[in-house]
Amino acid sequence: MWVHTKNLVGIIRQPSFILHDISLLQSLPINEWENGFAEIIKHACIKDAAMFRHLQKTSLTAYMKDKRMLNELIQRNAMIKIKVVQKDEFEKGDRRLLNFGHTLGHAVETQYQLMHGQAISIGMTYACHISEQLVGFSQTDQIVSLLGQYNLPSYASFDKKKIFEVLKMDKKRIKKEMNFVLLEKIGKGVVMPIDLKRLEKIITNL
Ligand SMILES: [Zn+2]
Repeated sequence: MWVHTKNLVGIIRQPSFILHDISLLQSLPINEWENGFAEIIKHACIKDAAMFRHLQKTSLTAYMKDKRMLNELIQRNAMIKIKVVQKDEFEKGDRRLLNFGHTLGHAVETQYQLMHGQAISIGMTYACHISEQLVGFSQTDQIVSLLGQYNLPSYASFDKKKIFEVLKMDKKRIKKEMNFVLLEKIGKGVVMPIDLKRLEKIITNL
């Protein structure tokens, strides 16, 4: 089922299933496409600068019209996911990169009843700003404009204190720290434990 488009690139063990469903994908409403592209942009951010540049040069409507191009994009995303998950089996932690934008995103999603793709786009935007402060990331503008290019939101006004309270309850929290996915640069995500007090300060001042 494609009801929840987390699965646009979420199904990795049945690549043939993905292929057969291209025509089904093409019948999806536009907002489901946007949801799927939020995850694709996420993959580009954490692992694939070349794909990021390709997305910059293309558009949602172009992918919707061009089956072959869409097929390649989906294959590439499935491969990124497979590699990250496989690597995780040897080198603990790579899988966590897939949470980029999701920690803050899930908090916003539940509080404001957004679609998943919209919520993680907002989450990615703020994770970029946190990355600026903690690891000197300097390409936030490019990510914000790519999200806009694919009809996805970036900045949003939300109750930062309330969001932090929700975020604190996240199961990824380990005692006084929380693992957060940051970007060193486009195509290179890193997982970093952040002290909760510090994180609270950063988020409430975003
Ligand atoms: Zn997701």
